[in-house]
Amino acid sequence: NLNTGILKEGDNEKRVSMVPSVAEKLIGKGYKISVEAGAGAKSGIPDAAYEAVGCSVTSRNAVVSSSELLFAINPPPEQDLGGMAGKMLVAWVGRRLPEGEKYVKAAQDAKVTLVDTTSVPRITIAQKMDVLSSQAKCAGHRAVLEGAYSFERFYQGEITAAGKYPPCHTMVLGIGVAGLAAMGTSSALGSVVRAWDVRDVSDQVKSMGGKWITVDFKEDGAGAGGYAKESSKEFQEAQKATFHKHCKEVDIVISTAAIPGRKSPVLIEEYMVKDMKPGSVIVDLAAAGGGNCTLTKSGEKYTTENGVTIVGYTDLAGRMGEQASSMYATNMMHMVNHVTGKEGASAFLSNIEKALADEKGDIVVKSIICCKDGKPV
Ligand code: NAD
Repeated sequence: NLNTGILKEGDNEKRVSMVPSVAEKLIGKGYKISVEAGAGAKSGIPDAAYEAVGCSVTSRNAVVSSSELLFAINPPPEQDLGGMAGKMLVAWVGRRLPEGEKYVKAAQDAKVTLVDTTSVPRITIAQKMDVLSSQAKCAGHRAVLEGAYSFERFYQGEITAAGKYPPCHTMVLGIGVAGLAAMGTSSALGSVVRAWDVRDVSDQVKSMGGKWITVDFKEDGAGAGGYAKESSKEFQEAQKATFHKHCKEVDIVISTAAIPGRKSPVLIEEYMVKDMKPGSVIVDLAAAGGGNCTLTKSGEKYTTENGVTIVGYTDLAGRMGEQASSMYATNMMHMVNHVTGKEGASAFLSNIEKALADEKGDIVVKSIICCKDGKPV
């Protein structure tokens, strides 16, 4: 048995790192799970649902003190780390970002073994553990629904006794996981979709039924590890002229462009928004990183003087509380199963030790462990 704890998130988070259906499977593999009271409440999961599958529900102190392995989404406050010495804490640390780096140092000083769920390598076998993908999928889907809610017209084309109405047109910028999800949901609602990314992913766009936007300038935007790299000044000018034209034509813009560890690239400027049709909507998924649109206000939704609504919510995955939690928990289950293989919970901690000690040890383990026994990994 491995004593495993699920922590309740802070006030601004609706998600939870474990859901009952996944907890039940883990319990079957020997994990003994205690859940902090109220942990699932904001995702619509009552304490009783955890108890019904065999988890115990108790206070935060009891969860922390009784567990060797702790799960959270947002890293718990740094002052809590002292009480977690010698334990393993698994959370969305973002170790490559300045805040994450600082948190790793604090965990290291507190002798907590810290696991960063965002550091899963982008290789095929690790896809099922990748929280960046699962949460981006939720965010991309939700972005379209937030856009549709603010757009006070039909998405699909309509021919009715009260008039004929064309379908709405959507432009998706940045076709990673969130962008593809946004394309899928937009098309499903009946919108006509066009899309662009700095990497040539025209095949993926076409396979989703979208039209690939072409910028009249050649440059390869692909960087290392499947991510994008920064583009040249000349390219950015050609790109702006293209976006300006498309902004005038479309009703909805969903922007998701991101470069890991960098400020969000600016793709839509004030003059482009001024030329958009009244009633159109921009949903800027990059709001937390500064936004792809210069007018985005992080965490807010507002309407400009010319009637364009700009949605800058930074909690889009959290707005899909239960769904995003289920996907996160499933990623966590795949992660522990990856470490233990067929052996079950009792092998979890020792297999991590083995992987770290071996020069050719498991690449996933080596990528996600930030620090152990007061030392960086
Ligand atoms: P991301 O969140 O880092 O970025 C979102 C998108 O923004 C990317 O497609 C990026 O190319 C694009 N972008 C960056 N700068 C831009 C600009 N100036 N203009 C327009 N677009 C810009 O990306 P992501 O969703 O994490 O995915 C990146 C890639 O990695 C995708 O191809 C995805 O399918 C792939 N991926 C692979 C795995 C795996 O193999 N395990 C897992 C997840 C994602």
